[in-house]
Amino acid sequence: MNRNVKRTVLICCGPGCLSNQGMDVYEEFKTKILISGLDVDLRSAVETENACVTDTLHPGIKTDLETMVSPAVKATGCQGLCEMGPLVRIEPDSIFYTKVKVSDVTEIIEKTLMENRVVERLLYKDPVQGRKVRAREEAEFYKSQLKVALRNVGEIDPESLDDYIERDGYRALKIVLSQKTSEDVLSEIEKSGLRGRGGAGFPTGRKWRQCARTGNYPKYVICNGDEGDPGAFMDRSIMEGDPHSVIEGMIIGAYAVGSHEGFMYIRDEYFLAIQNMTKALEQARREGFLGKNILGSGFDFDIQIVRGGGAFVCGESTALMASIEGKVGEPRAKYIRSVEKGLWGKPTVLNNVETWANVPVIINKGADWFCSIGTERSKGTKVFSLVGKVRNTGLIEVPMGVTLRRIIFDIGGGIAGGRKFKAVQTGGPSGGCIPESLLDLKVDFDTLDEAGSMMGSGGMIVMDDRTCMVDVARYYLNFLSEESCGKCVPCREGIRRMLEILNDICEGRGRQGDIELLAELGETVREASLCGLGKTAPNPVLTTIKYFKDEYLAHIEDKTCPAGVCKNLTTYYIDKTLCKSCGLCKKNCPSEAIEEKLEGYFINLLKCIKCGSCMNACRFGAVKILAGIMRKL
Ligand code: SF4
Ligand code: SF4
Repeated sequence: MNRNVKRTVLICCGPGCLSNQGMDVYEEFKTKILISGLDVDLRSAVETENACVTDTLHPGIKTDLETMVSPAVKATGCQGLCEMGPLVRIEPDSIFYTKVKVSDVTEIIEKTLMENRVVERLLYKDPVQGRKVRAREEAEFYKSQLKVALRNVGEIDPESLDDYIERDGYRALKIVLSQKTSEDVLSEIEKSGLRGRGGAGFPTGRKWRQCARTGNYPKYVICNGDEGDPGAFMDRSIMEGDPHSVIEGMIIGAYAVGSHEGFMYIRDEYFLAIQNMTKALEQARREGFLGKNILGSGFDFDIQIVRGGGAFVCGESTALMASIEGKVGEPRAKYIRSVEKGLWGKPTVLNNVETWANVPVIINKGADWFCSIGTERSKGTKVFSLVGKVRNTGLIEVPMGVTLRRIIFDIGGGIAGGRKFKAVQTGGPSGGCIPESLLDLKVDFDTLDEAGSMMGSGGMIVMDDRTCMVDVARYYLNFLSEESCGKCVPCREGIRRMLEILNDICEGRGRQGDIELLAELGETVREASLCGLGKTAPNPVLTTIKYFKDEYLAHIEDKTCPAGVCKNLTTYYIDKTLCKSCGLCKKNCPSEAIEEKLEGYFINLLKCIKCGSCMNACRFGAVKILAGIMRKL
């Protein structure tokens, strides 16, 4: 470590780390670095009263610069490994600390920043390699990733336009406005093979060209930031961590199709995304990247933010446009495409956050470079929020074509708690569940479709052997039945009827013929629904029937939930041959159902509420689930 090299302390303040006091860690670094006399090169130290604090409290502080260059402290967007947050990186020393608490900050400053020593206990222990790694790049979680849409997220201060510009920000826009015609841009995006990252995977260049071709004005461009999938936070992380990349992409898209007005539709609960986007738009206007006569090119374009109310269906393009127009967020039949008649009946291009963030890189590095990544029909990379029963949950970006196995077992570090993998759901609530036999499936738009699932916007939920697949299908159908706008009968009524059947199966009232009825209803809902919500809603049911039919049969015929999840169909008991009489289960039981007798520990079935706490607590695997319902043991 060289004391004369300018260091940067990057503190992750992405969604996961923020919920673990990431911002407190950031504030502590700022304060403690001031007190330690290392000085501090902060955005806020220039812009706010902190500048005065520096002068007032530490008049002699600058003398340290003779021996040490002051570190910069930055709050960044999501650095990815949410499971281990708050994350702190020190660059260029490539030191990566995990689970940093406010109380660790002084030690990091004293040991790492002042004495050039590593705080070993804060280094990340890679579950795949079974050792501690010093640099982020050494960890399996990061090794297989390729950051394109996320290139700046976690690397820059999202509130700093200078940071963005330092990393080629607005370079693509300058090239486009000074050297390229709109036809050049359309051709480049078409050639890149970029497909929309919002779900359907429609070719972006083709969509833009269709809009550019129409002679109807005005034209609009929209960014869909209404990420509604439970557990998904890809678009949120880009908007929070690198807002200018989305803005730059939208300006380039607007130039290509001939639009002068754009809308950014962000769900209202994404408070930080709205805040950072608002600030970025103001900065872009101030610097001449937005507004009239952008960079002296004669091209005018501006963007306004529209806050969405949080309805899942508003992620569907026509419902989103209705919502911007101030109408009820309901989809319409797409006899006429939005590129011809979209927002207020005018030609409109709508892409999601991740798609727009890819555009500047394609212009900067060229379509050939982008095409060199991915598979034949799915180019580039894809961002996923990897959640569920993996050791490393977080935000990842991988080249298209990487296998599910690599994502789950290398990047994700395998299944948490040493359990067995059971399924992975891709594509959000209306995605499908993929079984172990298909783990070597390549992740791209078409392969996932063929497997009965979909790419969706990038949610990826991993499930272990304690997951009941019938219950999973029921969970998602319940979500979707509540989120259906109710406009069309197949979706509104079909999903509800399917949900009723699933409730019956999970509660022990399943009947012969239920599986066939579910499959038939699912096909009808898929065929006859108006919009993407209804058309994809049956996916969780149809794929679980396809890949986990045995579980449905066990519920219906044997009145058993093999995973021990459906309470009416399970019985907990203690296997005496394995029990070591440690008493942990008894301590953890919330309903005092576990009794200690002379012969050992027993579960009182009359008191047991089947919560599973005893099973989780037992280190010897002595708590078991019995197939079926038992009255007495
Ligand atoms: S926790 Fe396990 S080993 Fe300990 S008493 Fe309960 S069942 Fe027996
Ligand atoms: S399943 Fe829950 S309620 Fe039943 S014995 Fe175990 S801890 Fe107690």
